[in-house]
Amino acid sequence: MTATDDAIELEAERLLRSLMHVDCDPHGKTWNLATCRAIAPLTLEINRLKAERDAVILAHSYLEPEIIYGVADFRGDSYFLSMKAREVRAKVILFAGVVFMAETAKILSPEATVIVPDRGSGCSLADSLTGDQLRRLKSLYPDATVVCYINSTADVKAESDVCVTSGNVYHIVEHLPARRILFVPDRLMGDNLRAEMKRRGADKEIITSDGTCMVHDQFSPADIAEARERYPGLKVVAHPECPPAVAAAADFVGSTGAMMKYVKNSGAPYYLMLTECGLVGRLQVESPEKAFIGGCRLCPYMKLNSLEKVRDALKAPRPDQIITLDEGVRRRAAHCIDRMFELSPTD
Ligand code: SF4
Repeated sequence: MTATDDAIELEAERLLRSLMHVDCDPHGKTWNLATCRAIAPLTLEINRLKAERDAVILAHSYLEPEIIYGVADFRGDSYFLSMKAREVRAKVILFAGVVFMAETAKILSPEATVIVPDRGSGCSLADSLTGDQLRRLKSLYPDATVVCYINSTADVKAESDVCVTSGNVYHIVEHLPARRILFVPDRLMGDNLRAEMKRRGADKEIITSDGTCMVHDQFSPADIAEARERYPGLKVVAHPECPPAVAAAADFVGSTGAMMKYVKNSGAPYYLMLTECGLVGRLQVESPEKAFIGGCRLCPYMKLNSLEKVRDALKAPRPDQIITLDEGVRRRAAHCIDRMFELSPTD
């Protein structure tokens, strides 16, 4: 066996230790030593390129498991990865996720070259509202404080007063001095926000635009009722991008990070995860003793990422893979995100 063969074998064994637990792979792949061996040369090459280019890879939890566990330096939800984008001191940040997330990394780390594996990795939610459309909406509600969900473009962030994530939206909006809130671009999260403010006794008028996440808006209370009947003791875990009727019927509603924490710390016999399937893959790796009953959905934008595209972007990024922003837009968007860090709960 040559040294290269040894390295490939060791890498395949490393990959297998994580990937062997994943049984909801988006491409129906079964992870065993042979499939890990097949991708090992690529993960070795990517990890070598990272060192050569002084690059870090940030990967969203919805990505394919071979990216998350094979080559990512940091994995998590939007809030966690935004903090990492602000902290890392690398020359290159490769954002394996979707374009608005890479824009956020560029806003927070302007000196770094920020690259994406596939420029077509949009988002039904972020792409539902442009900066121009938000300017027109603001003119209709001039007294409103504009709150944007982090799933929005840099132009929309630049037009907003404060950014939020699914993990801090309730806390931040509750504590804003304004009564009237223009919340963009997620109508369903806005509906959940309205209900939560009412439950907390906070006097807020929530006005929304009309975007939705094409993954989370698909779930229905009927999915939950059917699953509960088949799996006694089931816990239903939902993301606040789901419709309010789904959120109301779930046992727990929270951000991607909070959903993971809830599952890891509870002892139910089965879980129904009303979110993107990548998160179920992460939980299968990190909590292999838990049982998931399926029902998750795929985001086609997230699935545009692949190890080959990550390798090619690191090797020689094409102009369309490099994120560039107008400096005025970047500064105003950075201010909106900095407000979020200031107003986020500390625990
Ligand atoms: S899961 Fe939804 S919010 Fe996330 S990138 Fe896909 S479409 Fe956008």
